[in-house]
Amino acid sequence: MDLQLKDKVIIVTGGAKGIGEAIVRTCGAEGAIPVIVDRDAEAGKRVQTELQNAGATCGLITVDLSIPESCQQSVEKAEEKFGHIDALVNNAGRNDKVGLEDGSPADYVASLHRNLVHYYSMAHYSLPHLKRSRGAIINIASKTAVTGQGGTSGYASAKGGVMALTREWAAELLPYGIRVNTVIPAEVMTPLYRDWLDTFPNPQEKLKTILSKIPLENRMTTVEEIAAMTVFLLSARSSHTTGQHLFVDGGYVHLDRALT
Ligand code: NAP
Repeated sequence: MDLQLKDKVIIVTGGAKGIGEAIVRTCGAEGAIPVIVDRDAEAGKRVQTELQNAGATCGLITVDLSIPESCQQSVEKAEEKFGHIDALVNNAGRNDKVGLEDGSPADYVASLHRNLVHYYSMAHYSLPHLKRSRGAIINIASKTAVTGQGGTSGYASAKGGVMALTREWAAELLPYGIRVNTVIPAEVMTPLYRDWLDTFPNPQEKLKTILSKIPLENRMTTVEEIAAMTVFLLSARSSHTTGQHLFVDGGYVHLDRALT
């Protein structure tokens, strides 16, 4: 299937590692021009160099997205370098465990800056460009928004906000033909997930317990599986799909617990 993404400029926040990296690599393999926006300069450079060595074009902008001005600067830099922006993937975030009891109002607001506010800012500053290209937006959310987790008010509400904004923007941007969808992962092995697992006394045992609860094949979702859905939703092949919440999770959130 030709996804018709050749030479499309696609901004991917958090594109240096994990899920974002896989989206960047899949975009590159489809002939698109991914632009990594990430604070990890070293990892970003490594991915950019590998893509360039394979004959793809890839942009790299090193910023911390929780600083509001960095979003405007990132969009401006991408537009200056490539002349157009065809899609935005809002992906950067981290489950930062700001709880109701242990956190504070200031911690909560800071968590929203790490996980939600830059999704809005990136979309806001990209909008004039996306109007011109009749582009697409994909927001990466989390199962935590619909299942809860405990001890993570900031992250859970940010991801719930991401899902609500997907519907809201899909409605607002109908006149411009800009489609907006959310991909919702549950359990995906990434550098972030590995760090979290390593906080348990026996990470292997913990992983075994988690896998036993994933209905389809008792395994983690791969970063490539998240990327494939994301890139399909970015492409003209999903031209009548908007405002959707796509759970790419092996049935983790919706299938009957009795199946596991
Ligand atoms: P990851 O392995 O940490 O990769 C994310 C990348 O984004 C890292 O390079 C990270 O840099 C960067 N980043 C994070 N916040 C940033 C910021 N404020 N400014 C600039 N760069 C930033 O994470 P991942 O597991 O791939 O997660 C990607 C997205 O999927 C997140 O929104 C996460 O909530 C969501 N998600 C993941 C899972 C899962 O199982 N992995 C499940 C549900 C949802 P640093 O390393 O410096 O932080």
